[in-house]
Amino acid sequence: MSLGDLYQEVIMDHYARPRNRGELPAPDVSFELHNPVCGDRIRVQARLEDGRVADVRFSGQGCSISQASASMMTQLVKGKGLADVRGLIERFLAMMKGEAGDYKPLGEAQALQGVARFPVRIKCATLAWHVLEEGLRRHEEGAADGR
Ligand code: ZN
Repeated sequence: MSLGDLYQEVIMDHYARPRNRGELPAPDVSFELHNPVCGDRIRVQARLEDGRVADVRFSGQGCSISQASASMMTQLVKGKGLADVRGLIERFLAMMKGEAGDYKPLGEAQALQGVARFPVRIKCATLAWHVLEEGLRRHEEGAADGR
C-alpha cells in the first residue's frame, strides 16, 4: 500500500466516522465559516478551561475533505493548551501552503498534505482550522472587553 493510499484511507475513515461531531451545550467559542467554492459549511464549538481546550465539537456539512479535516482538527486540539493549539493551526496552514517543515506534530492531519497539490481543494482542508483560529481570536477580544 502506498503512502497516498494510506492517507486516503485515513481521510475516508474520519469522513465515515467523524470524531467530536456534534454541539456543546455552553461553548465559550462558537464560530462558523463556509467555503462557497465547494459549499462546505463548518461550525466549531469549544469549551475552554485553565487556558486549555477542555472540549471541542464540530458540525456542518460538505465534502469528504472538509469534514475529515474538521474531525482530525478536533481530535488534535482537544485537551491542548491554547498556545499549542495556535501553533498547530499555523503549522497545518503552512503545510497546506506547501511549505517544507516538520508536520509530525499534526498526527493524522498529515494525511491532508497531498491536498496542497490541488489548489481548489485547499480551502476545503483549511476551513475548520480557520474557523477555530477566528473563533479563538474573537473569544480573546471578547475577554479583553471584560466579559
Ligand atoms: Zn469541499
